[in-house]
Amino acid sequence: MKTFKCPCNKGEVREVARPGRRTHFRNIPDLEIPADVSIPTCSACGEEWIDEEVAARLDDAMEEVYRAVVAAKVEGAIRDLKPFIAQRDLEQLLDLSGGYISKVKSGKETSASLVSVLMLLAEAPRQRIDALRNLWMAEPKEEAERASLPDESQWTVSAGMEMVVHSTRAAERTPSLPRKGRQGGAVIRIAQQYGAEPSVAA
Ligand SMILES: [Zn+2]
Repeated sequence: MKTFKCPCNKGEVREVARPGRRTHFRNIPDLEIPADVSIPTCSACGEEWIDEEVAARLDDAMEEVYRAVVAAKVEGAIRDLKPFIAQRDLEQLLDLSGGYISKVKSGKETSASLVSVLMLLAEAPRQRIDALRNLWMAEPKEEAERASLPDESQWTVSAGMEMVVHSTRAAERTPSLPRKGRQGGAVIRIAQQYGAEPSVAA
């Protein structure tokens, strides 16, 4: 583009490509503009002069940056949630179709609202997953009432047996599961090993 004098009367406006510029894009307030994207900028006051052509170029570049940042945030959240909840249980809790979270993680799908939920859950996984499960009950329990409930996950989590923890929780929390299905042998064995009373006789 041709350079022109900036209305500030102190500088020239010309194409500038440099690192360190940030912009609000969709729901991210401080997304970094790729260093190789040039924007007409005043040499004195720094004002950026964005016409339609520049805006379109900027949008294309930012869309790519946005997807990469969202994918990274999903990956981080899923990694933090993994020791506390299986992906399929998480999908059930959020009423997502099976495999949907993997699609978001791979970048095939981008859902800012889902990522918001995952990030909030990942900040304090145990408390927030539990709180969300409760909030989704038709008749949620008061916090005091919930605190008095035994935390059946404590000993299984400390045993480092993620799969068993998840199936225990899934079974415990799925009322439609037949009673027989709720007394998994592995669950009962671990309960005995850690001194907890098995809820169903083995
Ligand atoms: Zn200027």
